[in-house]
Amino acid sequence: MTSIRDLLSSSPDGRTLTVKGWIRTKREAKNAVFLELNDGSCMANLQCVLDAASGLSETLRAELVRCGTGASAAVTGTLVASPAAGQAVELKVSGLEVIGEAPAESYPLQKKNHSLEFLREIAHLRARTNTFGAVARMRNQMAYAIHSFFQERGFQWVHTPVITASDCEGAGAMFQVTTLDLDALARAGKPVDYAKDFFDKKAYLTVSGQLNVETYCMALSRVYTFGPTFRAENSNTTRHLAEFWMIEPELAFAELEDNIALAEDFLKHLFAWALDKCAEDLAFFDKRIQSGIVDTLSSVVKSKFARMTYTEAVKELEKHASEFEFKPYWGCDLQSEHEKYLTEKVVGGPVAVTDYPKEIKAFYMRLNPDGKTVRAMDVLVPRLGEIIGGSEREYRHDVLLARIRELGLPEEAYSWYLDLRRFGTAPHCGFGLGFERLLMYVTGMQNIRDVIPFPRAVHQADF
Ligand code: ATP
Ligand code: MN
Repeated sequence: MTSIRDLLSSSPDGRTLTVKGWIRTKREAKNAVFLELNDGSCMANLQCVLDAASGLSETLRAELVRCGTGASAAVTGTLVASPAAGQAVELKVSGLEVIGEAPAESYPLQKKNHSLEFLREIAHLRARTNTFGAVARMRNQMAYAIHSFFQERGFQWVHTPVITASDCEGAGAMFQVTTLDLDALARAGKPVDYAKDFFDKKAYLTVSGQLNVETYCMALSRVYTFGPTFRAENSNTTRHLAEFWMIEPELAFAELEDNIALAEDFLKHLFAWALDKCAEDLAFFDKRIQSGIVDTLSSVVKSKFARMTYTEAVKELEKHASEFEFKPYWGCDLQSEHEKYLTEKVVGGPVAVTDYPKEIKAFYMRLNPDGKTVRAMDVLVPRLGEIIGGSEREYRHDVLLARIRELGLPEEAYSWYLDLRRFGTAPHCGFGLGFERLLMYVTGMQNIRDVIPFPRAVHQADF
């Protein structure tokens, strides 16, 4: 079966064909009936025209009555040049079969221009709107682009576990996984004994695949994870989900500059891909969701990413302290307002900020000779601030162990991670990109719940 996307770019050669999809609108004019058919292969509809000048057949008229907005239908006709503006080809209809009706009085998408809030409540139907169709196609293309980027560069995709028994990842609140009948234990007034649980101990959903993927990095050299991660974020923000996807490449025998170069190539690849493969959907986002998005993406693709240390960044920010709600000082975690200022006002383009104070970064980051900062990097982009966070990893066994002890982390739980430094250790680095944050950036959607098909967030796990 030919998709509408393919049909719209083919020549009006008069061939007869049957096209299946969902009716977006039906418009009855004096001498013709117009059906807009959409099959999700692209944003544009196929215009199907029924010539009514000399009257429609009984069968066609009967089908047309059932053929309202939202109905699924098989439309047969010939592909001809469209006399009207807006499309090159249209279907001159000879046959129409309604497959499934969508009664006008109860179909929730009967009217157009529903609010995103309302559409969130009908997540099982919202993919049929222009906006969510476009988001779904973009999400698919970005996933494909991510794999293509890494595969072309010899990175191997590693499937890190979703369930983890170590609560040592430290990136956020974790969801617990158990097969114990907690209700029954509570009713019986018995204590919970996790030694009797499925894994003989407490288990959780992973918050990051990084520590696991490092093990494969120390064998396969260039690896990446791309899969779901979970955080029991109890904050109701427009940027946090409880279940989201993350991309985490890790490369061996490499240092921070290699990491920044990889992140730069990666973002440019993704944005160039979006501009190339999703031009129609991007034009829609630019017009209806976030104006200027095409320009922003093109300018990042053409830019050269700047570099700046955290210390330099704070010096710049301090000069403009009055412009911030949160006053910057050396040692502070950069706020979103600071990050945006750096990329938009100070640099005027993407910038990689490096060498952050160790206190505000994770334990596994490589300590600099100054003993105060670590080889971390955050990539900041205009309109958003941080899009990627990464670092060179501490690969020296004794330095890492000292850091684990200094922070009072459970040494035993990290013994396998320390083993990577005990046996054949090597400089390595990597970064993390939240897939939905990327999608927000490339679509302009303001709420992260609108770039994943079925959002899971605090108080929300429907559908
Ligand atoms: P944030 O400050 O935004 O909460 P974070 O510092 O907790 O992020 P990391 O631990 O560095 O995030 O996770 C790596 C990436 O995963 C982030 O840069 C972000 O893109 C994404 N991310 C983190 N938490 C969430 C979440 N709850 N929902 C969606 N994406 C997330
Ligand atoms: Mn967080």
